[in-house]
Amino acid sequence: MRNIELNTDFKCIHCRSFVSAGIILAGVNNRNHCPYCLWSRHMDLFEAGDRLSGCKARMQPVGLTLKRVHKKYSAASGGELMLVHLCIECGSISINRIASDDDFQRILEVFDASDGLPDNLLASLQDRGIALLEYENLEEVNRQLFGVYQQAVMAVAA
Ligand SMILES: [Zn+2]
Ligand SMILES: [Zn+2]
Repeated sequence: MRNIELNTDFKCIHCRSFVSAGIILAGVNNRNHCPYCLWSRHMDLFEAGDRLSGCKARMQPVGLTLKRVHKKYSAASGGELMLVHLCIECGSISINRIASDDDFQRILEVFDASDGLPDNLLASLQDRGIALLEYENLEEVNRQLFGVYQQAVMAVAA
């Protein structure tokens, strides 16, 4: 029931692109960000997909991190590449999976821009155990984005 409700068409709150259910279903369950501009919306309160937040403000993609086992996020290589979103209204942070149809150019732009984030934001991320990827991690970023791209190509070819 819940999945049917979540996987419906929506209009991006930031860039106004129409995101179809077909795109929402591509690669991830519970897609929560726009594949074109990567902005999200503050919908969840306790866990991904619960849609219980009263905030509903826009969440900006601020950087990349790697998912480690046991729900830790760090800049050490090996884990899955994740997008870090910051709510521009209340400051909530969420970590989200990258989908195979996310705009990779935009992901790299977010990665570039994360270099100039304010110190207090970086400190608050660090407090939560989230280390953003830095320039020295570029190879890992490219490797993972290319890997995701490969899967997408194979899915189309199949
Ligand atoms: Zn958008
Ligand atoms: Zn919020």
